[in-house]
Amino acid sequence: MDLHNLTAHEVGDLLRRREVSAVEVTEAMLERIEVVDGRVRAFLTRTAEQALEQARAVDAARARGEDPGILAGVPMALKDNLCTEGVRTTCASRMLAEWIPPYDATVVNRLKKAGAVILGKLNMDEFAMGSSTENSSFFPTRNPWDLERVPGGSSGGSVAAVAAGEAYYTLGSDTGGSIRQPASFCGVVGMKPTYGRVSRYGLVAFASSLDQIGPVTRDVTDCALVLGVIAGHDPLDSTSADVPVPDYRATLWPDIKGLKIGIPREYFGTGIEPEVENVVRRAINKLEELGAVCEETSLPHTEYALPAYYLVAPAEASSNLARYDGVGFGLRVPGRDIVEMYMNTRSQGFGPEVKRRIMLGTYALSSGYYDACYLKALKVRTLILKDFENAFTKYDVLATPTSPTVAFRLGEKAGDPLAMYLSDLCTIPINMAGLPAISLPCGFSQGLPVGLQLIGKAFDEATLLRVAYAFEQATEYHRRRPELGVA
Ligand code: GLN
Repeated sequence: MDLHNLTAHEVGDLLRRREVSAVEVTEAMLERIEVVDGRVRAFLTRTAEQALEQARAVDAARARGEDPGILAGVPMALKDNLCTEGVRTTCASRMLAEWIPPYDATVVNRLKKAGAVILGKLNMDEFAMGSSTENSSFFPTRNPWDLERVPGGSSGGSVAAVAAGEAYYTLGSDTGGSIRQPASFCGVVGMKPTYGRVSRYGLVAFASSLDQIGPVTRDVTDCALVLGVIAGHDPLDSTSADVPVPDYRATLWPDIKGLKIGIPREYFGTGIEPEVENVVRRAINKLEELGAVCEETSLPHTEYALPAYYLVAPAEASSNLARYDGVGFGLRVPGRDIVEMYMNTRSQGFGPEVKRRIMLGTYALSSGYYDACYLKALKVRTLILKDFENAFTKYDVLATPTSPTVAFRLGEKAGDPLAMYLSDLCTIPINMAGLPAISLPCGFSQGLPVGLQLIGKAFDEATLLRVAYAFEQATEYHRRRPELGVA
């Protein structure tokens, strides 16, 4: 049996029935990583020993007759901006290359309680800034569907690992699209939950008012299961919301008759590859066949989301990244005095994109520009939110492409920051509004996966999952796996 081709819930069922042990599954996964990761390069750090120990603990619990839950014993991995006690957390930056956190992020804690087997830490764009994982200070990750192409970013390692069968599910983070855009590039399911749904405690901050942690999985059922584990109020994150968490799996039923889906026209046409648009439109027709009522609508301020994001996100980043000064933790490059030490540390510790963001953000926040840039961007942010609020008086869900293109070639956009930024055209507005959205595989263009993005009302992940599930039940795209040239 090709264990690595299964979904998390399929493996979870095998484990529950004790047809296979957690140690066997973990060993099979470690072997799979050994075989394919030289090509895909999703992992920055592997924690084989710890994984086997966690697997043994789950097997022991089951041997005692306990039921530790459906995800117990299922191997997974984490984006390397999620703090793991005793395991280095690099954010793919030279600045944190040797940094070992003294505590676990809340999501990591919750996963451990659910019996997760953690295989290691995954590559990303440095400090989650980028859309291709080429901004990693270590090496780029490759797209399992075509090794000459990028997996997307910034959670490139998280999606490539799931697509290549190196983990049954992973966690990523999404500030402007970093879970959904790579999920669409690699043909897997990725969700950015509502801002506040999942605790950010222990997520290394990029732009605190936009960052959210979310699941990357092979199907919608797994997404529902993982979200159920990581969601919920956390006193350690003052922005986490005290809103009840439904049993997401129980809300999955493939009936969307009469559900109203808005199709915002600003997300189609200019800037979107025609073949991507065709695939997404066919997916929307499918939703209609399944009984949903689809109707064109408008979110008139959409075009201002990207420029406003590139003021708000860098502004917050410039403030958050001020802590990397060679004093508290991470890299220190000595100098003749403290100022030179700061300069040496920050010049050598950060890569070019991170420096660009710090400079943009510092500029936007500086006296004289604060009102014209930063405050204005915040006002635009409110207009964007109001567009969505308006639309959600009429519709249950909105449907758009996740990304304007399929996966591009390594190096194709690396020298052109603006072209790279445009890759998040369809995902950024959702972060600006704090809403939940999911990307799911909806077809292929030039042999590469295309993602459908569904956007929901705040804290209504359940409806998103239900629509996604209905689509998935009626299609086969989520079952396709890249060849990778190995058995
Ligand atoms: N690509 C976007 C950026 O570079 C979004 C990144 C993210 O969501 N972390 O800012």
